[in-house]
Amino acid sequence: HNIAELRRLDIAHHLPAQADWAEIEALGGSRIITHAEGCYIHDGDGHRILDAMAGLWCVNVGYGREELVEAAAAQMRELPFYNTFFKTATPPTVTLAAKIASLTQNRLPHIFFNASGSEANDTVFRMVRHYWKLKGEPKRTVFISRWNAYHGSTVAGVSLGGMKAMHAQGDLPIPGVEHVRQPYAYGEGQGMTEEEFCDACVAAIEDKILEVGPEYCAAFIGEPVQGAGGVIIPPKGYWPKVEAVARKYGLLVVADEVICGFGRTGQMWGHETMGFTPDLMPMAKGLSSGYLPISATAVASHVVDVLKTGGDFVHGFTYSGHPVAAAVALRNIEIIEREGLVERTGSVTGPYLAKALATLNDHPLVGETRSVGLLGAVEIVADKATRARFGGAEGTAGPMARDACIANGLMVRGIRDSLVMCPPLIITTEQIDEVVAIIR
Ligand code: PLP
Repeated sequence: HNIAELRRLDIAHHLPAQADWAEIEALGGSRIITHAEGCYIHDGDGHRILDAMAGLWCVNVGYGREELVEAAAAQMRELPFYNTFFKTATPPTVTLAAKIASLTQNRLPHIFFNASGSEANDTVFRMVRHYWKLKGEPKRTVFISRWNAYHGSTVAGVSLGGMKAMHAQGDLPIPGVEHVRQPYAYGEGQGMTEEEFCDACVAAIEDKILEVGPEYCAAFIGEPVQGAGGVIIPPKGYWPKVEAVARKYGLLVVADEVICGFGRTGQMWGHETMGFTPDLMPMAKGLSSGYLPISATAVASHVVDVLKTGGDFVHGFTYSGHPVAAAVALRNIEIIEREGLVERTGSVTGPYLAKALATLNDHPLVGETRSVGLLGAVEIVADKATRARFGGAEGTAGPMARDACIANGLMVRGIRDSLVMCPPLIITTEQIDEVVAIIR
């Protein structure tokens, strides 16, 4: 590759996602990632970088899986594309739907395919509102979500999400989404016990439902563990209590498993780790380990039974159920199962990461480390006692520390004042030691 030329073209023609284009231009263009294997990515300047972000929370089986390449090639040869609009389906699409259903123990046995996590949430949005109309409660249109939640970058995804900076661009959220406080104990629960903080967060949800009016509330949506918000792990007992409040007022419960699904938290689904049962469940990322874009929205029978009374569900995408992406997802799930990656995350590497991160707690700039499975965060503070942040309330140390990590051969993400990580599920304990050593 002619890296200098690629950087020039990047500046002249490419608008990278979720990025400050002027900053990238000032830096001389994006870092060009050329190839990867296992847990390592390589850039055009010859750097080998340990990828503790699994790409973007997705490359769960690691890079360089030849059998995924073969699965894609074989399916492309046989049938590169067909849609599901014309009372049609393809073998991998149907087989994958059944496979996902079985991974939910058939609790969510109906699968709607999309190409991205954002689209999976758009599907949730339309299904839920349509469901309530068909059920004869058309006033139930409001979604309850959390501040600092991430549910995607489409109009519905940004609206369901609770990222104020994203709301500010595009005059969002759209009407019908209400946000409540997030269960972020380190940042927002100072001076409270874990139980007091948990109950305050749950009470905020009940208060919001009563303020909106239960008869207007359609669903509660949340990530079992907030990822892009900074790996926010809720206090013990939070989710069962949230589910109970939602059910008390008749709301549907949506678990956004786009990051947590497929073993990330040490069990197949984040909602299993957190102790609740959703009615709808968007998933993406780990479904194909990012090798091709595909997402799914899994739905409980009691919801689909109602939707089936409504004739055509006029929603879906050209790439809903793409056969090549589905074939790759099927083989990816086979790898996860064959190699026992979920169990390994739950019993070996997840606990190891927690212990390894805890060795950073004596560092003068580390306020807290936390993790669940292979999803972790290091909170950087200016003052451990007061939890004062660098750069004011929001904090600015994360991106600075991230840049230092990258310069030292480690890819992590900086979010406000924390470093977050989400390594491939194949990461070894030696590589986890390397992650922690570089952060230190
Ligand atoms: N939901 C969650 C929980 C996510 O973390 C993300 C992406 O990070 C999305 C939805 C959106 O997925 P995508 O970027 O594939 O649209």
